[in-house]
Amino acid sequence: MLEVDKLVKEFGQIRALDDVSLQVSRGEIVGLLGPNGAGKTTLMNIIAGYIFPSAGYVKIDGLDHVVDSKSACARLGYLPERPPLYDDMTIEDYLAFVVALKVPDRRSQKVELHRILDEFQLCNVRGRLLRNLSKGYQQRVGFAQALVGSPPLLILDEPTAGLDPRQIREFRNRLFKLKENHAILFSSHILTEVEAVSDRVVMLNRGRIISDSDTALMGFKYRVITEREDKLTRQALRRVPGVISVEGTIKEDGLFAYDVTANIPDGDSHSIRKDIFFAMSKNNQAVLEFRPLYSELEERFFNAVSDQHREEANR
Ligand code: ATP
Repeated sequence: MLEVDKLVKEFGQIRALDDVSLQVSRGEIVGLLGPNGAGKTTLMNIIAGYIFPSAGYVKIDGLDHVVDSKSACARLGYLPERPPLYDDMTIEDYLAFVVALKVPDRRSQKVELHRILDEFQLCNVRGRLLRNLSKGYQQRVGFAQALVGSPPLLILDEPTAGLDPRQIREFRNRLFKLKENHAILFSSHILTEVEAVSDRVVMLNRGRIISDSDTALMGFKYRVITEREDKLTRQALRRVPGVISVEGTIKEDGLFAYDVTANIPDGDSHSIRKDIFFAMSKNNQAVLEFRPLYSELEERFFNAVSDQHREEANR
């Protein structure tokens, strides 16, 4: 549905995007992760057709963004970092305005307006002015305008910024529902959120993609604290299904720590914890402590960010 190939964007001396390529298919949620200034908004603005790239191309549903701009744009819904709301309009007037822009057939416009108001539970507040809405409701209306006309590709720039936990959960559920019929690319700074929602995570740093991985295949690191160190324990841990590696032991208060990296299919950490526990008890090793450390994704993110800080400090 979305094909981005070798995108470059320069703002004067600043190279905001450098050789960025990625694809998003229908039925897939891709999380775009990166520190401040990584280039996430620039990439999304180019995909949405707000700005042009310096080189490279974007195709939406096979349509080139420059050659078939109008048809390509009709296939995407965009929620920018700041929702494009007109303060003095009511929710209903604003959404009717967006519907009129995106749905050419007059008879279908009324149906579409009702569908959107209903889907986003906005019927009861349709008469309220946009300027008086809470952040959560503004975001909801912003999301609603992106869905007008049911475009197959959704681009959402930091859609959960400023939302409370209940609203974040509501947003997640909405994404899961939409996933079946859409290709979704969304950006965030929040690692846990991206991991929880996405099928794939693309990590951007200083305009470059530094990682593009399937979340189901991503490892998670655990620390297992035991009384003694021996070869059999290490071997037993290595044999646990899903375990990718067992790192050297670190002494902690006379105890030993094994750092175990394991793949957790579908985010289900239950069975791996159980298997590790039984592998240890079979080996007559007491598990004195067992704690999740961090995900591979988190490790990669922090490595990238600390490299950046180190370089900046050395400049
Ligand atoms: P954030 O998470 O803070 O929103 P981001 O990952 O979205 O950051 P961008 O906003 O895309 O990053 O910015 C990438 C780089 O391009 C930054 O160095 C930024 O200063 C620069 N930049 C973005 N837009 C412009 C512009 N219009 N003119 C000049 N430089 C720009």
